[in-house]
Amino acid sequence: MTISVVDLFSIGIGPSSSHTVGPMRAAKRFLDEYAPTPAHTLVITLHGSLAATGKGHGTDRAIILGLQGLEPDAVPANHNPKPGDTIAANGEVHSIPYRIIFDPVPLPEHPNAVTFTWGTITQRYFSVGGGFILSAEELDATATNDSSQSSSNETELPFVFHTATQLLQLCSDQGLTIPLIMRANEEAIHGDLEIVNRHLDAVWHTMQQCVTAGLKNTGVLPGGLEVTRRAPDLYDRLSSPKSKFAGDPLSGMEWVNLYALAVNEENAAGGRVVTAPTNGAAGVIPAVMHYIAHFCQPEKKLWTRDFLLTAGAVGMIIKENASISGAEVGCQGEVGSAAAMAAAGTCQVLGGTPAQIENAAEIALEHNLGLTCDPVGGLVQIPCIERNAIASVQAINAARLALLGTGIHRISLDDAVQTMAETGRDMMGKYKETATGGLAIRIGIPVAITEC
Ligand code: SF4
Repeated sequence: MTISVVDLFSIGIGPSSSHTVGPMRAAKRFLDEYAPTPAHTLVITLHGSLAATGKGHGTDRAIILGLQGLEPDAVPANHNPKPGDTIAANGEVHSIPYRIIFDPVPLPEHPNAVTFTWGTITQRYFSVGGGFILSAEELDATATNDSSQSSSNETELPFVFHTATQLLQLCSDQGLTIPLIMRANEEAIHGDLEIVNRHLDAVWHTMQQCVTAGLKNTGVLPGGLEVTRRAPDLYDRLSSPKSKFAGDPLSGMEWVNLYALAVNEENAAGGRVVTAPTNGAAGVIPAVMHYIAHFCQPEKKLWTRDFLLTAGAVGMIIKENASISGAEVGCQGEVGSAAAMAAAGTCQVLGGTPAQIENAAEIALEHNLGLTCDPVGGLVQIPCIERNAIASVQAINAARLALLGTGIHRISLDDAVQTMAETGRDMMGKYKETATGGLAIRIGIPVAITEC
């Protein structure tokens, strides 16, 4: 399957790319493909973790919004499903009677599945992380494909790469930067580079709006954990001339923390965010981009496009060779991937060579290897919100360290990605998607399964 930055960075709603964005897309796709009518009751079965934590993540409501023909990036603000906000399991959408069944038993193929049954038609989709969905047939094809041949099997790309090593070789052979290689491929996929530019600009605009909203919105996050939003108060204190960090050479770090908290608190509240590459990890890239916008002076005016294209290249390599899903490999695949992507984007816009960029991504990923997914209460709040802040600072640090080097290093990004895949396979289930281990069991709010 050809992956585009347009798919990787999608504008949607919180709190979960796999539990909110993916199911909404699946429902819209079913609507488009089968055009159900009131002739039969539409039965929607949520399987595995979509059932176990679906109500908390507004999965049922996301499904109905999708059946209303809405896309995650076009849902009106007042339609946003909120965590814990549920809908009747029986009702009508467009006069079509529906029934929602919550079946927490996971299917063998994947932990997140939804089946639509209408008359004699049965179609199943899997929400595989980052808001991506696959039909049963597509999942099957993905599982049997040799990963080295899975990219560009739909579109002939001018610059085919599956690994960081291949990408670096292309840069060297063609004398091109990573963003130029990405631009050529994206133009081939979409037929018009302006489509890509418009999307990248919309992504940055949405990230800015998300930070602005997060700095303003106060109160307690939904879901029952009683987590108070910190970003507005922190913003006031950092903006004050009496801030205890005023004049501190590391004060930029406090702002990076703030930007990430703002985004992830918005995500936890069901607000509009960009999957980067998932909702749970949505704060890292915006935080780092805000840092660059406010504290650095990139040479290019449209540096945000180069940042996102470079980060996207790293995200694609990780997605193809390991995973960006916490359900599959733990949080190393979500926040770890976001840190690697942000480090690469930072290194690019601050003048790094392709080798330094690869090094920056590798450093950021290497030091997130083994990171487990253990959110308290099955909500994308603790440790997720703070974790994005810590990873944002780490991404900047990784880029700066790489920029001081030559790009020559011993462990390659491909090695780190491969290690992530293997570590994810070996990771016990309680540290991946079950919220039955780690921090998740410390506060005493048991939730069977979670994901972001
Ligand atoms: S701990 Fe789990 S739910 Fe939280 S950000 Fe990481 S992968 Fe997502």
